[in-house]
Amino acid sequence: MPIFVTKSFMPPRDEYIKYIEKIYDCGILTNQGPFVRELEQKMRDLLGVENFHYVTNGTIALQFALSALGINDGEVITTPFSYVATASSILWQRCKPVFCDIEGDNFTIDVDKIEKKITSRTRAIMPVHVFGYACDVDKIQQIADNYGLKVIYDGAHAFASKYKGKSLLDYGDVSTCSFHATKLFHTVEGGACIVRDKDVSDKLELQKRFGHNMDNHYMLGINGKQSEMHAAMGLANFPYIGKIIEERRRVSDLYDNILLNSVGRPKKQADLQYNYAYYPVVFKNEYELENVFSALQKEDIFPRRYFFPSLNKLPYLKGHKCPVSESISSRIACLPLYADLQNSDVERIADIVKSTVKNKIR
Ligand SMILES: *Cc1c(COP(=O)(O)O)cnc(C)c1O
Repeated sequence: MPIFVTKSFMPPRDEYIKYIEKIYDCGILTNQGPFVRELEQKMRDLLGVENFHYVTNGTIALQFALSALGINDGEVITTPFSYVATASSILWQRCKPVFCDIEGDNFTIDVDKIEKKITSRTRAIMPVHVFGYACDVDKIQQIADNYGLKVIYDGAHAFASKYKGKSLLDYGDVSTCSFHATKLFHTVEGGACIVRDKDVSDKLELQKRFGHNMDNHYMLGINGKQSEMHAAMGLANFPYIGKIIEERRRVSDLYDNILLNSVGRPKKQADLQYNYAYYPVVFKNEYELENVFSALQKEDIFPRRYFFPSLNKLPYLKGHKCPVSESISSRIACLPLYADLQNSDVERIADIVKSTVKNKIR
């Protein structure tokens, strides 16, 4: 069996089917049905937040964040070290992504470089808690307050990470999350917006359902409503969140033991309760990364280059140079990490990485 970088957690079949049978019994498939509402409430309780909106995916969640905050032109300062959806959501909302380089310890936006990127057209800062590591949320909020900017966190990786005693998704004006099948917690496809302000939250809820409530049309909206089938997967997975994180921690700790001193690793903040969403490793250079990839591929093991290329290099974005992001992007990869990855496989992967890094053919 080939081993890929991730494998979706599947709840016990009968537990998912029980939910599907209930959907058949009541006949409600979508439009804020009972399972969507139940999942939203469970998430509010779990994360300790007031305004939680379940939407169709993590990309439209970012677009809703911008539109609900009234940001439909101007510049948004963001990180080049992320999945493409971070930057494309900004562009799709007719704004201009302005890339600010990252710092080298945990690959989040470099707060010391944000102010230099602010112009009269800047409307918001959109950092990413990349791999589930926390951005410097206090400094970012301070800058935003000084310049009258909004803060939107792309928290696609941040689910179940806690920072300074609360959910990492409870920072900024809006935080988003992704519940895509490849993420730590999934609902097949899905995403969420966590919104600080009640008025913004109400606006977002309306925009998610075409901007109207019955026959009253209030504003331009779109369809971001999630289905009962998706919510059912979320409810079936929900009781396993603790177990999923525990198993990922087991895998990560085992990698740590074997790979210590062989590869570079992000530095976890002291106040962060980490969710073990990814296992990124940084090689000395791209050549070393390629050697490791071909050694693993021979064994049917397929890590992924997350994130490559640095988004400022994309042809339709034409961003400024971001040397740190470009350097990290060229030599970072995520190793396979998922709840039922066996210790023997983790050891096998780590041993191949370790011996390849040592036996460089120069
Ligand atoms: C996965 C991801 C998204 C997009 O989420 P989808 O649910 O796939 O639309 C956005 N940003 C980051 C950083 C991601 O990893």
